[in-house]
Amino acid sequence: MSIADFHSHSIRSDGVLTPTELVRLAAGNGVRLLALTDHDSMEGIPEAVAAASEAGIQIIPSIEMSTDIPGDEAHVLGYFLDPEDADLQRTLAGMRDSRVARGEGMVRKLHSLGVEISWERVKEIAGDASVGRPHVAKALIEAGHVATFDEAFERYLAKGKPAYVERDKLTPEDAVRFIIDHGGVPVLAHPREIDNLDAVLDSAVPAGLAALEVYYRSYTPADIQRLLQFARTRGILPLGGSDFHGHGSDGERKPGDIPLTEETIARFLDASGQRIGEARIRPYRHSLTVS
Ligand code: AMP
Ligand code: ZN
Ligand code: FE
Ligand code: FE
Repeated sequence: MSIADFHSHSIRSDGVLTPTELVRLAAGNGVRLLALTDHDSMEGIPEAVAAASEAGIQIIPSIEMSTDIPGDEAHVLGYFLDPEDADLQRTLAGMRDSRVARGEGMVRKLHSLGVEISWERVKEIAGDASVGRPHVAKALIEAGHVATFDEAFERYLAKGKPAYVERDKLTPEDAVRFIIDHGGVPVLAHPREIDNLDAVLDSAVPAGLAALEVYYRSYTPADIQRLLQFARTRGILPLGGSDFHGHGSDGERKPGDIPLTEETIARFLDASGQRIGEARIRPYRHSLTVS
């Protein structure tokens, strides 16, 4: 277990726990510093901050953005963003709107394939969340069209599969700039999954990428060594998190269940402090050093 977890999701995107439940679970696991990184949404942050204050832990207000790379996508995490930044929130709301149109598009494509699920049901499943393919996948499972999440993606929803619908996404480089422009700290998520990591880093590092998610879910010691080498070569920091969603899927890790050394945590917070100013970082560091 680790005292920090830099990657987690709530019902405000495709996680199953409310921000309050997530914070309590994390705190119970010994996490003192939790980044809530919902996809394109900071709507869960106020609730998470309130629950964290009750539990005596700290929240890093964060997001996860999907970006376009040739033939694939890359996810960029943005930390220490301001939930009250109106321009940022407007942009994120626009991204969530584009997810709605794309969700409807996927349901239409499924219909044309003879796979019936209702858009109403997908919306119900998503609730207050930023709509995503996991919600469509859940509707597919419910209707008996597939047995598992993985099957839903493999048969229909993954990029290149028949019900996939593209949506407007930034490039990794633009996402990095966007996060920095809003005072945040950009980190490349689950990089093992990116085939041409060098190409992504070639553009994202000069744009200001701060770290690489080296410690993640089922990454093996060999994966970690390889990714640490990428981080070292590029002069960026290693980071990590559980990416907990609460689906209970294979290989899921609980909040806090990604060991990070105190040095990894402290170096990232120090670097973030330089970027965003000591005034905002100090409370987080304080809570880490006293607890
Ligand atoms: P979206 O944000 O709508 O593009 O959906 C992306 C989310 O779907 C990711 O964050 C994963 O949680 C999930 N996902 C993507 N690809 C797969 C896959 N092949 N199998 C299972 N889940 C996936
Ligand atoms: Zn997710
Ligand atoms: Fe991701
Ligand atoms: Fe994630």
